Amino acid sequence: MKPNAHKHTHRRQELSALTGRLRGQSRKITGPRAAILEILRNHPHPLTNKEILAALTRGECDLATIYRSMHLLEKMGMVKRFDFGDGTARFELVGEGEDGHHHHLVCTKCSVVVEIEECFPGEIERRIAAANGFKAVTHKLEFFGLCPGCQ
Ligand SMILES: [Zn+2]
Ligand SMILES: [Zn+2]
Ligand SMILES: [Zn+2]
Repeated sequence: MKPNAHKHTHRRQELSALTGRLRGQSRKITGPRAAILEILRNHPHPLTNKEILAALTRGECDLATIYRSMHLLEKMGMVKRFDFGDGTARFELVGEGEDGHHHHLVCTKCSVVVEIEECFPGEIERRIAAANGFKAVTHKLEFFGLCPGCQ
């Protein structure tokens, strides 16, 4: 595998730029939404709704509000949903003008998450598309293993 055009960089975004994007789409910057964006901005790996709730100051919002906010932010392309195969949605902030496509390496013992910058060469998708008569083939993929501390 070699890196492709979907290079994933973790540059921290300014909260003002994020709330500006919300405003640009004429959405109200509710306290909870700004608080959720601030938590995601300070966290380099995908978070579950429950982890977001735990990181919020007590009483700022409830799980139902987070659930609705994540749904909205996902629809706006500001967060990306990841699936680690355990039935729990995880969310990560997407940089402006990026599609957020990248992968993770997850420890099956302690659940530590490593951001993976590599992706398959586009040639593989083109070949799979051509062989099956498909168009616009894409992929979702996460890696699992034992981290150095758990070996
Ligand atoms: Zn581990
Ligand atoms: Zn990630
Ligand atoms: Zn990929």
